[in-house]
Amino acid sequence: MGMGSRAASIVAEQPRPAARSSGAPAEGPEGHVPSAGPAPTPISARSPALGHEQLRFEQLFARNPAATASVDRAGRITAVNAAMTTLLGRAPSDLVGTPLTALAHRDSRAATTEMLFVLFGAEREPRPVVVRLPGAGGREVVARLVPVPLGGGRSRADEALVVLEDLTHRIAARRERRELAARLEERELGDALTGLRNRRAMEACLRQSVAGVEAGSVAGVLVVDVDRFTMVNDSLGHATGDELLRIVAERLRGASAGLGVIGRFGSDEFLIVVGGAASVDEFAGLARAVLSAVMEPVTVHGYRLTPSVSIGIGTTTDPACSSQALLWDADVALHRVKQEGGGDFKLPPVGLRKSMAARLRDESDLRHAIAAGRLSVHYQPLLGRDGGIVAVEALVRWPHPERGMLLPGEFIPLAEETGLIVPLGNWVLNRATDQVAAWRQSLAPTLQLCVNVSAKQLMREGWSATVTDALAQSGLAPSALCLEITETALLRDLSTLAASYRELRDAGIRLAIDDFGTGYSSLVYLRDIQADVLKLDRLFVGGLVCDERDSAIVQSLIDRAHALGMKAVAEGVEEVEQARALQRMGCDLFQGFLWCQAVSAGELASRLGSANVWQRDFLDP
Ligand code: C2E
Ligand code: MG
Ligand code: MG
Repeated sequence: MGMGSRAASIVAEQPRPAARSSGAPAEGPEGHVPSAGPAPTPISARSPALGHEQLRFEQLFARNPAATASVDRAGRITAVNAAMTTLLGRAPSDLVGTPLTALAHRDSRAATTEMLFVLFGAEREPRPVVVRLPGAGGREVVARLVPVPLGGGRSRADEALVVLEDLTHRIAARRERRELAARLEERELGDALTGLRNRRAMEACLRQSVAGVEAGSVAGVLVVDVDRFTMVNDSLGHATGDELLRIVAERLRGASAGLGVIGRFGSDEFLIVVGGAASVDEFAGLARAVLSAVMEPVTVHGYRLTPSVSIGIGTTTDPACSSQALLWDADVALHRVKQEGGGDFKLPPVGLRKSMAARLRDESDLRHAIAAGRLSVHYQPLLGRDGGIVAVEALVRWPHPERGMLLPGEFIPLAEETGLIVPLGNWVLNRATDQVAAWRQSLAPTLQLCVNVSAKQLMREGWSATVTDALAQSGLAPSALCLEITETALLRDLSTLAASYRELRDAGIRLAIDDFGTGYSSLVYLRDIQADVLKLDRLFVGGLVCDERDSAIVQSLIDRAHALGMKAVAEGVEEVEQARALQRMGCDLFQGFLWCQAVSAGELASRLGSANVWQRDFLDP
């Protein structure tokens, strides 16, 4: 191209501003080069001999956004374009005449010299080199020097171009990406609140520990759950909840240091994974240490709290054991601790795995039995003060093909846990309303029906429609139905049940509080709940004759029920003395083995049809 010398000569006319950088527009104060604008005129004005073509090539050099210098065989810079002066933050006059090598940092000079040697040597293809050099504003520039030989074929011109590609941003971006990735990785495996390992990391850790368990050693896990955490969170605020978790995390970290790997597994759940313990006793020892470390009272946001945790342990000596199975064991153990009030630890019960399998089979059996209508409803009479049958309570039974007739205690908890209680309860409701409607038509026109319902049913949106549908289908009057819900369920879920509860009341259906006295509820609640019937738990009735305190309680409960316009029912009456005492106290309805157990529909029908045989057990009919 042969423009290098001209460029050099132009630059050599410095410091006249017009020649500052090969006809490029003048830089701004920060070395900013406007990208467009009319070509400055001085060059052609001074050299009318320069043809249009040459001017065009000059501009290609001068305005090329790639930082470019031309160098001679001695490696000296003969010209620089605007992009180069901007990049390096140096004036053209400062650069022209300087050896290119001198621009580079000391550690990059050898590579630059080598590159220049090859560039003019014509023996080999010159290759770019990456160098460090001081750039504008004192920043360090990492650049790739791309050698561009001039001339044709093997004969190389005395000048060549070197393009400087600034890699700094790209490198910074790559470093940033790498750092970001590292941070993300850290965050993904770490828990933001406590700084402990998170669930994913702990699962991996547990898998590793189990897989690595050697003969004669035990691997396992402690699942640590903060007691009453939801209560702290709800009543004292999330900030206090978070702080409590941090404190517990710190204490757990201290107690398990050197013994196990700790992480946060869920909102208020921590995991401690233990690798090669000598025996299960070590797990128990660690659990004790954790319990006592956590229990120290502490002031959090002005509240004096004594943190407490429950611990479930799962252990194995089998490297093939799945970590899920271990967690399951630990969860079951934890559940038992919680049931007993928390603040303790437990190992899973012996034979747990087997019972888990059995439980799953039971669940599937129960599901099928409900769907196929293979359950059965028994009825227990409720007697009035004159000994006549006023109502019947529907009590579900499961005639099991292998295990015989199962009582609710053997499958209702499973149904509650799995949600099967909803279809089960609805089935009982339909069956019983049909049955009692039929009895009212043929045998007992005023007979009433009591049906037990679970909080889970009431919580279903629109469940009241299920009840009114059942009534409509059977033709039973709403006032003939009384739904029994246990005191415990009512107290726990009152706010969520409120809507259904109101709808049912509005439909004219009566409501009873079942097992009253077992839920530690204060009598104040009775007023708020607005039920129609209060069923006193049989625990009180059992102590009626021999325990004065029970008598006093029962008397006050009956009085309170009456004061609030409720009927009082005594459950579990087994002895004549109890019946008489209850009657003296003003109890309205009686239910118990003294008169009749829960019996099949057929048997109850025959009792409804026969003369009332129970009157003799009442003192004052
Ligand atoms: P519950 O509603 O309190 O029913 C009374 C329970 O006490 C019945 O037990 C009944 O057989 C028993 N019982 C009655 N009189 C006496 C007595 O004199 N002595 C003794 N020791 N027990 C007596 P069952 O049938 O085993 O039912 C237990 C519980 O299962 C029921 O207690 C109820 O809470 C629940 N349950 C029964 N059927 C259903 C149902 O269809 N749905 C729901 N959600 N729960 C049901
Ligand atoms: Mg009941
Ligand atoms: Mg009851």
